[in-house]
Amino acid sequence: MASPLQGIGVSPGVVIGPAHVIRELEHVSRQSGTPEQELAAFDIATEQAAAELESLASRLRAENHEAEAGILDAQALMARDPSLADLVRDQIRKGASAERAIDAAASHYRDTLLSLGDDYLAARAEDVTDVAQHMQRALGTETPQPEIRRLSVVVAHNLTPSQTASFDRELLLGLATQTGGPTSHTAILARTLGIPAVVGLGPAAGEIRSGQEVALDGDTGEIALDLDSDERSRWLERARAYEREKRRLTAFRDLPAETTDGRRITMAANIGSPAEVDAALENGAEGVGLFRTEFLFAERDHMPSEDEQVEAYRSVLEAFRHTVVIRTLDVGADKPLPYIESPDEENPFLGERGIRYSLRHPDLFRVQLRALQRASTAGKLAVMFPMVSEVEQIKTARQMLEDIREEVGGSAQIGIMVEVPAAALAASRLAPLVDFFSVGSNDLTQYTLAVDRVNERIASLYRPLHPSVLRLISVASEAAHAHGKWIGICGEMAGDPLAIPLLIGLGIDELSMAPSRLPVAKERVRGLTFDACREAAQLSLDYATAADVEELLRTTFP
Ligand code: PEP
Ligand code: MG
Repeated sequence: MASPLQGIGVSPGVVIGPAHVIRELEHVSRQSGTPEQELAAFDIATEQAAAELESLASRLRAENHEAEAGILDAQALMARDPSLADLVRDQIRKGASAERAIDAAASHYRDTLLSLGDDYLAARAEDVTDVAQHMQRALGTETPQPEIRRLSVVVAHNLTPSQTASFDRELLLGLATQTGGPTSHTAILARTLGIPAVVGLGPAAGEIRSGQEVALDGDTGEIALDLDSDERSRWLERARAYEREKRRLTAFRDLPAETTDGRRITMAANIGSPAEVDAALENGAEGVGLFRTEFLFAERDHMPSEDEQVEAYRSVLEAFRHTVVIRTLDVGADKPLPYIESPDEENPFLGERGIRYSLRHPDLFRVQLRALQRASTAGKLAVMFPMVSEVEQIKTARQMLEDIREEVGGSAQIGIMVEVPAAALAASRLAPLVDFFSVGSNDLTQYTLAVDRVNERIASLYRPLHPSVLRLISVASEAAHAHGKWIGICGEMAGDPLAIPLLIGLGIDELSMAPSRLPVAKERVRGLTFDACREAAQLSLDYATAADVEELLRTTFP
């Protein structure tokens, strides 16, 4: 047996199967050149994309598929459209690479088509995406879409959330990546989808070969290769023990999360699409504390239309009696969308993400807000804005939502993520403007400690239980309650049994987490007293290090 590898377990489950190694994802970009070279590359790519589309059209016509051939002919014309080319050339002259310029121009073109309020033209926006992809392929920059054809453990340098979402779930046993930390979005998505995963394996992941047998524990982060028969039996027993524990925990599904002295906590699920509603209900979620709509947007190769969004939001709202918190698009940073122009930023996590992106793209934002308002009659909707750091952002977003409500009706609570330290510190000023707060501890930890949440090299410094993070949560919680508002937490910390007593002690009203974590969390809450939680929380706020807090929690709440 080869020596075992150690990564960070981010999504529980024990699996054994052949590795499917994806290496080409590391090489997704081409080298860009001077503006003259980029202009020439664009001209060649345009011609090649148009010729490719025409040749596909001829083939379809020869096979008597006239209607489909017509669509491709129209796309070939679009590829040669001088106004699209002008937009691209303009971007290149301003210094963009051909690759970025095509993305930017296509995105602008699509937004324009979508904003004209004409269904036919809106449908053409999809064609723009197709054409842009043909051009990118011709340039040699398109990210290859990984595919698996048999039961496999996928091993990769890194995966984007949309790549993770695109694997055939029937065949995907588990995931292992070289980079990434526990709160990277690929890790979160794996957890939400219930796919066992280990991230942050470092260069050791490079040793794994396709076809090699891999055993993976998504809890401990261990990976073993080339098992001998003793090892295989031990791993199989580990897998069975995991399944037994899962069955034992189902007993907690329908019990309330209440401390022994009567403090009732709402237990909610984090989901990324309507497909995860069943898992949430099966694991005993009362409502949804975070619907990350960007995953819904990432699962396809074009922006979902207003009607598609209404349908998705409705189906989630209908499934729950309790509140469903739907977060508006939080693209940017480690959540790029393949069909949305990503600005060229030195520090994307400090860049145009979340509400910043939405407010700069009001046409796109309005489509989502309209869809939310239209869907709101199906249940108890709460709309939440991500990455808020300024009063003005809430006021503007709120006004947009209220204007849309006048037009289309419906009702919803309005809340914000508290995930930027500035928002936590200004919580008493923000609370009067909202109905609720939800602590985004993943980003709050990253921004408070200045530790990149996806960088495995500094993963040991990424400590949500750092007293400085806890103080910010405490400030937000007190401000929310002083103004009669509720406060939840939807960062990964909410599902960590070690952190739960502390969060309850800090006054958190709702814990929202990946569905698979709910049963353990419920069992935890039901074994606590609110008094002990409050006492531990007060002590923690005076500590100096995360290690001190962890030690206190381990000894007080074994
Ligand atoms: C967070 O930051 O804690 C959060 C829940 O949002 P996301 O992980 O999607 O950034
Ligand atoms: Mg966040």
